[in-house]
Amino acid sequence: MIAGEPVPSRTGQVSEVYNPATGKVTARLGLADAAEVEAAVAAARRAAPGWAATPPHVRARVMFRLRDLIEREADRLAGIITAEHGKVLSDAKGELTRGLEVVEFACGIPQLLKGEYSEAVGRGVDSVAIRQPLGVVAGITPFNFPAMVPMWMFPVAIACGNAFILKPSERDPSLGNELALLLREAGLPDGVFNVVHGGKAAVDALLDHPGVDAISFVGSTPIAEYVHHRASANNKRVQALGGAKNHMIVMPDADMDQAVDALMGAAFGSAGERCMAVSVAVPVGEPTAAALIERLLPRVRALKVGPGTDPEAEMGPLVTRAHRDKVAGYIDAGLAEGAELLVDGRGLTLQGYEEGFYLGGTVLDRVRPGMKVYDEEIFGPVLSIARAGDFEAALKLANDHEFGNGAAIFTRDGDVAQSFLSRVKAGMVGVNVPIPVPMAFHSFGGWKRSLFGDYHVHGPEGVRFYTRLKTGTLRWPTGIRAGASFTMPVLG
Ligand code: NAD
Repeated sequence: MIAGEPVPSRTGQVSEVYNPATGKVTARLGLADAAEVEAAVAAARRAAPGWAATPPHVRARVMFRLRDLIEREADRLAGIITAEHGKVLSDAKGELTRGLEVVEFACGIPQLLKGEYSEAVGRGVDSVAIRQPLGVVAGITPFNFPAMVPMWMFPVAIACGNAFILKPSERDPSLGNELALLLREAGLPDGVFNVVHGGKAAVDALLDHPGVDAISFVGSTPIAEYVHHRASANNKRVQALGGAKNHMIVMPDADMDQAVDALMGAAFGSAGERCMAVSVAVPVGEPTAAALIERLLPRVRALKVGPGTDPEAEMGPLVTRAHRDKVAGYIDAGLAEGAELLVDGRGLTLQGYEEGFYLGGTVLDRVRPGMKVYDEEIFGPVLSIARAGDFEAALKLANDHEFGNGAAIFTRDGDVAQSFLSRVKAGMVGVNVPIPVPMAFHSFGGWKRSLFGDYHVHGPEGVRFYTRLKTGTLRWPTGIRAGASFTMPVLG
């Protein structure tokens, strides 16, 4: 979608889009090359100055209208997410709601862009600090939240006065086009929001193009690191969010039923394909491990796996056959490395959906650092249990892992909770909350190799990322008539 119009790709490069529930190909996506990216950048550059000059409260009105349109279309959009991603419909709607909250945050842009003014920084001299848009910014997004992750980025970027180019995941690309149509209906001028579909060639073209001022990326760590390096080498501002291995520590005093409820949703919701999924449970002490496992296993065995359109289903299929097989391969690797398989989700087939990309909930126990299943992000419905002797050992596990996206602790002890919040090396921390995703008016981002760059997304950090600071020092004519000065100015 360029400047409000659908533009078919002519490169001849295509990738297939599947319905993961049935395993059938539902669409073929044309993949853009550098020349097609060039057309999107040119459209965005043409639109950017006029949009930057539009007053913030007028820009905000587009966000108000977009908010209502997304609400109006929520059922249809959720259906598209489920058809391409596989997650259950209620979860698809949840992702839309979390995205919508960022649109609501962006409605407040006049307030968020208010500058600073200091009167009398010197005699007759005032100072102002204002934030201005960057120009053209691009967002490159992963498959697992085809609506929410783009909506972490473009509402803030556009409300700040930038033009935006979205490069969605090629695995579930349709939401990008839908959002472009809704933005047009909301009154956004053509060219302020554009979508290019593609893979590495399209991404590289955006990273290298001198007409793109900043890159927001969300995806796996190796690609995030690559994107950060390449875009930085081209002197762009870049935030690149990567993978995760989120630990949930369960202390002996935790409410065990609550902890198990939390683990079920956090480990198996969206088939574990969430960057904030809990993939490692860390029970502290052997009695805690025994109590946790006793309650957990029947629940995992009873997980209702089915197509995302089935209202009874708690968990849908994985996104592609290749990804399902990769996740199953991790279970094999865990067994080979000495982990204990408590629940095995491999080999699950559903009647009527034999070709779907299903995998049942899986639990591996006695997982340790050094095992592939512990060190790497699996991104599937596989929960590892890594036992710890005490709180310090549990904290060390989380802190020594290369990823630091989210971390959670379940306890009734305020002292332990406070110590965890203060000392854990992760960007987002939950106390008796398994998936501590910040609200839109706070900022989302991890530490360590879960984020490359300086800024988290949305909230105040998002506004800072999509604007640059200008500081003015103002003196009015009487002062200027005082004559030239050749010494370092000291105001007084
Ligand atoms: P991915 O890294 O494969 O793809 C992300 C984007 O990068 C896609 O748009 C894709 O087209 C593009 N891409 C893929 N390979 C590329 C290459 N070689 N060169 C240039 N561009 C390339 O990620 P995914 O599988 O779509 O998404 C899952 C990953 O995203 C997981 O690792 C998950 O943890 C992570 N994720 C992180 C967050 C976060 O906030 N930290 C949020 C959601 C997802």
